[in-house]
Amino acid sequence: MMSGGKTGRDSMAKVSTVRDLRRRNRSALLRPLFLEGRLTRPELTGASGLSQATVSNVIGELQNEGLIVDAGTVDSDGGRPRQVLRIDADYGYVVGVDVGETRIRTELFDLSMEQRAAADHPLAHATAVEELADTVAATVRSVIDEAGVPPGHVLGVGVGVPGLVEHDDEVLVHGHAPGWQSVPLETLLRERIDQPLLIENGAKTLGQAEMWFGAGRGRSAAVIALLGTGVGACVVTGGSIYRGSTSSAGEWGHTVLQVGGRPCRCGGSGCLEAYVGADALLARYTGLTGRPPLEGVAPEAAVAQLVVHDPDDEAAAAVLAETVEYVGAGVANLVNLFNPEIIVLGGWVGLLLGRSHLPAIRDAAARYALRQPFERTDITVAQLGVDAVAMGAATLPVDELLATGAVGATQQRAALRP
Ligand SMILES: [Zn+2]
Repeated sequence: MMSGGKTGRDSMAKVSTVRDLRRRNRSALLRPLFLEGRLTRPELTGASGLSQATVSNVIGELQNEGLIVDAGTVDSDGGRPRQVLRIDADYGYVVGVDVGETRIRTELFDLSMEQRAAADHPLAHATAVEELADTVAATVRSVIDEAGVPPGHVLGVGVGVPGLVEHDDEVLVHGHAPGWQSVPLETLLRERIDQPLLIENGAKTLGQAEMWFGAGRGRSAAVIALLGTGVGACVVTGGSIYRGSTSSAGEWGHTVLQVGGRPCRCGGSGCLEAYVGADALLARYTGLTGRPPLEGVAPEAAVAQLVVHDPDDEAAAAVLAETVEYVGAGVANLVNLFNPEIIVLGGWVGLLLGRSHLPAIRDAAARYALRQPFERTDITVAQLGVDAVAMGAATLPVDELLATGAVGATQQRAALRP
């Protein structure tokens, strides 16, 4: 009995090893193909580190499943034209949801990450979490309808949220807004959305998008900083997002720049966000002048007015100069802590500041950072714009697809066949 049980365990272990190997091999081909778009077989062999025979077998398998298709030929040096392969953009679709503080943006992409449908929904301040979950689910259904794709071919839905996302038995979201303490958002959304669901902090989803398609491409040590109403960061080390023990790492906005400083909505004081978050910029201007920069306009327009201010607006100039100094100090802290190759300024406030004041931010950072790591750090502006949180959220199910070698997706689609 004992030995029989052991043999049973051994053969089960063997089955799972074979299955793991199959997933790993498929993943090793799918990931470079997804990130590069089009590759030849020799390029895939080089990128995957697999043998030519294995590459041939796995490509055949993926072609049979319709996951990869021919994409024409390229000339090779002196030889026959070489066949190029790509992932079939219409094999499946992914949805990304950016739950912002003032709106929900939902986008549907094919597997070439071309946007096929999008929906925006304004969010009232202090929306109840159940109502928020209803709205997210409704926007997911609306983009699937608009794109006209079979709901069963939507491989997954990624959701980027503001605040801490704690990955434990259940995904809990801790936000600064009222009613967002330990919110079981995953459970609420699963009750309303049929597709596989993944939730992540918005700064991390933006970071993943910039690493895959934007300023971070090809880098392995990077920090993507998100400055908006909230301030956060996505720390990438060895090509992977650094999460910490419960996935909350990267809360750059709540690192303290001033002991006993301005109150922060996290409950602390002197946090970076309390100086360079959008509300802080506007509040500091109002503190100097007794009036907001532009009355009766959206915060985006008011902050833009501050950042690219009239030459004679001394209060705006003062707030801006101080903001540049604080952002520079915050960037210097990232340099000193993480020694990244590149720091990318993103988020709508980060883009406004970075596009018009990057040299000044670099100069400020140089004053606070250690010289050696600073000299080796590129500081740049995000390439994907402000909507990249939704695209980044859509990369969550794509990442899952690539990591599992699309084995589950093939099963999901097979189960749908009549
Ligand atoms: Zn704080």
